[in-house]
Amino acid sequence: MIQPSPGINVIEGLRHARTIVPKRAEPFRRGFEAFTRQATGMHPIKSTAKSVLEGLGAHWLGRSLYKHCALILMYHGLTPAKTSPDWGQVPADKFEAQMHYLNSHYNVVTLARLLEMMASRRVEPYTATVTFDEGYGSTNKVAYPILKKLGIPATVYLTTGFITPQHDPVRYIWSDYISVLLTSSGESKLDLRPWGSEEFDISDATRLYRARRRISIHLKALRTEDKDGVLKALEDRYADRIDHAQFTDYHPMTWEEVGTLQREGLVGFGAHTRTHPILSRLDDRHLEDEMLGSRDDIRSRLGTAVDDFAFPSGRRVDISPAALALARREFKSAATTVSRLNRLGQDPHFLYRIGIGNDLQLPRFKVLISGMYSFDK
Ligand SMILES: [Zn+2]
Repeated sequence: MIQPSPGINVIEGLRHARTIVPKRAEPFRRGFEAFTRQATGMHPIKSTAKSVLEGLGAHWLGRSLYKHCALILMYHGLTPAKTSPDWGQVPADKFEAQMHYLNSHYNVVTLARLLEMMASRRVEPYTATVTFDEGYGSTNKVAYPILKKLGIPATVYLTTGFITPQHDPVRYIWSDYISVLLTSSGESKLDLRPWGSEEFDISDATRLYRARRRISIHLKALRTEDKDGVLKALEDRYADRIDHAQFTDYHPMTWEEVGTLQREGLVGFGAHTRTHPILSRLDDRHLEDEMLGSRDDIRSRLGTAVDDFAFPSGRRVDISPAALALARREFKSAATTVSRLNRLGQDPHFLYRIGIGNDLQLPRFKVLISGMYSFDK
C-alpha cells in the first residue's frame, strides 16, 4: 500500500513550469507565485493555504499551466461507507463525484492510448487515465458500475496471489492484514518492541489505523523474511478471532470477476506482483518470480498479453535498479506512486501517478489533479 505524498513545493514546480507555460498564463503564474510565497513562506503548501487556493479556483490555473501533461490517477479500494479511517479506501460517493468531474473536464483515455501519445510527444490537452491497484472486490462491485455508466476506461494492476478462485478462503494484502488482525485482537495496546518497533495504542479505529501505518512503514524497511516473521507472530496470536464478514472492503475480486470485467472490455489489467513485496528487499530470483510470475498468472487466466506493471508501494526507495531493469525488459510501461503529472519525455517505466485518498473533498481533488500541488521539480 502507498501513503499520501508529503506536500510539494509549488514554487519549485512553477519555476520549472516556465518552460512550458503559454505566454498568456504568465501574469497568472507570477501572481500565483507571489501569493503562495506569502501564504506558505516557501514551505510545502499548508492546509489553510490550500483551502484558500481551492476557494480561489487554483485548479483553473493548474489546468492552464500543465494542460499538455499526462495525468494518471491512482486508486486502491472503494468503500460503500461514508467515511473510512484508511487512506486507501475512498467512499463510493466521493469517487462518483470525482469521476463526473474527470469525465466533464478531461480527455479520459486508456493507459495504452496515453502511452502512445507520450511516445509520439503529442499529448492532447487534459489527457488522463484511471488506475486501480491490487484488485479489490470493490473495483468490480463499486467502481465498475460508475465507470461503465460514464464510459470511463481503467487499468487494474493485479496482485495475483491476492486474487482468489471463487469459494476459496479469503486472502488479504499484507498491509491490510495488519488492520484485520489488530481490529480482531480486541486489545487496546499492541507491544511490538520485541520486533524492534514500539508499543501502539489501538483503542479506537483512528489510533488503530495510525498504528497500522507505522507498523507498515517499519515492516517495509525489513528484509522480507523478517517482515513475514512479524506478520506470522501477529497471525498466530489473533487469526482465529477474525470475522471475515467485517472486512469486506479488504477482500479481493475473484478470478471469475476479473474474467467478466475483461470480456466487457472497458477495464484492462496490468501486473502488480504475486504477494506485494517491497521489490528493493528481494534477491533476483524472487524478483523475477514476483514480477514475471504475476504477469504469467494473468496471461494464463485471461489469455491476453500483459504489457503494464505497477511497483508495489511504488516510492523511489521501493524500486531497486534490478526491478527497474526487469520492468524495462519485460513490460511496455511501469507505474510508481510518486505523486506528479507526467511531462513530455517522462520515462514510461517510471510513470508518476496522483494517488487519491479517503479524505479528499472535491475542491482539493480538482487542484490536486491539476498538478498545482505536485509538479515535478
Ligand atoms: Zn499495491
